[in-house]
Amino acid sequence: MENRFLFLGPPGAGKGTQASLICKDKGLLHLSTGDLLREEVSSGTELGKQAESIMNKGELVSDEIVLSIVEKKLSKNFQGWLLDGFPRNLTQAQLLEDLLQKLDQPIELVLLIEIDDETLTQRMLSRGRKDDNEQVIRRRLNVYREKTSPLINHYKDLALLKSIDGSGDIEDVKNRIKEAIK
Ligand code: AMP
Repeated sequence: MENRFLFLGPPGAGKGTQASLICKDKGLLHLSTGDLLREEVSSGTELGKQAESIMNKGELVSDEIVLSIVEKKLSKNFQGWLLDGFPRNLTQAQLLEDLLQKLDQPIELVLLIEIDDETLTQRMLSRGRKDDNEQVIRRRLNVYREKTSPLINHYKDLALLKSIDGSGDIEDVKNRIKEAIK
């Protein structure tokens, strides 16, 4: 069976960690726009050069750049996918829906990983990524609130949204997710 999931939630909620586990379990393609952008930056591509300073500030990279990355990956054949970190705003959600309609691959479920700000900040500070210092973390949380969180109601209206509690250890959260996507 094919599965097509989308993980939604603030930075530091554990989307990447959990997406890797679930994808390994179910044989899905894990598509993280953050990981793909970081790869572009470390390979020094033109796209990476454009994205780097924006990422280091905690702002969103342009919809055009992100969509071009996603489109390349999603056009290939595979046994379903899990999108992590995309879409990040309503424009991207609309672009994604247009693309998925063309590919005849509608989203089956959007999973919102919920967690409080204090835990998020602690988790981000402990992973030590370049964009994980306090000032940039604050900016990324604000960008999430302003631009990404309207997607919650968007997917609620489309009757695609389920929420899970993202607190606790990795194993607990994984079990909650597995239950939710059954
Ligand atoms: P993440 O690994 O998902 O936390 O993403 C790290 C950074 O990459 C973000 O702070 C953005 O600068 C950029 N980024 C990742 N995904 C997107 C996206 N869908 N749209 C715009 N920027 C993105």
